Amino acid sequence: MAQVFVLDTNKQPLAPVHPGRARLLLKQGKAAVYRRYPFTLILKSTVMQPTCSPLRVKIDPGSKTTGLALVNDASGEVVWAAELTHRGEQIKRALDKRRAARRSRRQRTTRYRPPRFQNRHKRKGTLPPSLESRVSNVVTWVRRLARLCPVSAISQELVRFDMQTEDHPEITGVEYQQGTLFGYEVREYVLLKWNHQCAYCDARDVPLELEHVHPRSRNGSNRVSNLTLACTACNRCKDTQDIRDFLAHDPARLARILAQVKTPLRDAAAVNMTRWVLYERLMALGLPVEVGSGGLTKYNRVTRGLPKTHWLDAVCVGKSTPEQVKIRGIVPLQIVATGHGSRQMCGVDKHGFPRTGPKQAKRVRGFQTGDLVRAVVRSGARQGTYVGKAAVRTRGSFNITTAQGTVTDIHHRWCRLIARADGYTYQQGKEEAALPPTA
Ligand SMILES: [Zn+2]
Repeated sequence: MAQVFVLDTNKQPLAPVHPGRARLLLKQGKAAVYRRYPFTLILKSTVMQPTCSPLRVKIDPGSKTTGLALVNDASGEVVWAAELTHRGEQIKRALDKRRAARRSRRQRTTRYRPPRFQNRHKRKGTLPPSLESRVSNVVTWVRRLARLCPVSAISQELVRFDMQTEDHPEITGVEYQQGTLFGYEVREYVLLKWNHQCAYCDARDVPLELEHVHPRSRNGSNRVSNLTLACTACNRCKDTQDIRDFLAHDPARLARILAQVKTPLRDAAAVNMTRWVLYERLMALGLPVEVGSGGLTKYNRVTRGLPKTHWLDAVCVGKSTPEQVKIRGIVPLQIVATGHGSRQMCGVDKHGFPRTGPKQAKRVRGFQTGDLVRAVVRSGARQGTYVGKAAVRTRGSFNITTAQGTVTDIHHRWCRLIARADGYTYQQGKEEAALPPTA
């Protein structure tokens, strides 16, 4: 089961405990809830010399979702796992909208002002805002975890495949062997080079097989420069034919494949900028950072018989992955990045004209939009108990979004804060959704 983080009274991180033990600590009054998400207790006493086995934060960065896992290398136990959904798309949309609004404003009202954009430049190493947010999300979570439990190392998936392993110094001139780690690296490479589609019929999202352009039975080599991708049907159809016979009816495709198969993948295509920036930021945290390739992750996952999910990919990142991975009962915490509100001073319509009044204070009666609250309404039409995210209104009555839907106009005097808005929303697997509103 996912364990519960524990701090001592000086906020010193201690070894995470089993949820049963956490329940006991709370019941005996020895601890209090420190954070709801991830669930953390704070003891009411000091622990002088805590005994904790070090944990490793493992990260599988993705463009939409990043897998996070805390693993005890010594015991192979997964202590905690999460899947972090980024908001890159949202940010891009918001910026596009802002750009359009500013452009139309310049046409309408500020056209006689001299341009002021000529002195603008980007500092070196600046990422576009949508990518920057992904990197920041991950760094935020690593730092948070390091405050809540004894983290001693970080593992990150850095590249998709690693052709420069010591045993295989070069990408060309190397035999690939089915079933070995290197086979996984080759497969990742070929998948990326041929754009995840069948070279003969452009089929996508179907099982793809490695295919020898010059067939093995006719002395074709096993080198990467003789490999492409084919769907099962095309592979069977081509069989041991020479590619020139097989594609005699489609000379354009034949020429394209023959040209591409000899061209190695350019470095730029294989290197993911965001991951490198993330790597540098993680290094700056001062913990040892281990890096792994996507091929190694897949190899680790398949040899341990684990299904493909973001958090299990994270568990399998890097050479440090334990032989036996204990994942029983782990339900990953679903984390969705929501941001911290808007900087726009007032809403605009589709023509860029102000649609709302100026923005009001963010905090109303001690609450702000995004806070997790529990409202016990004792009288009136909306009598009942509601737990959910509040959206504040200046008039002092809030909307509360619960698992069952949104209730409007709940006066602030009924509300009690459970957790402050921190730029993320959380869902603990399916168990949380099943909770009744009076939980
Ligand atoms: Zn095909």
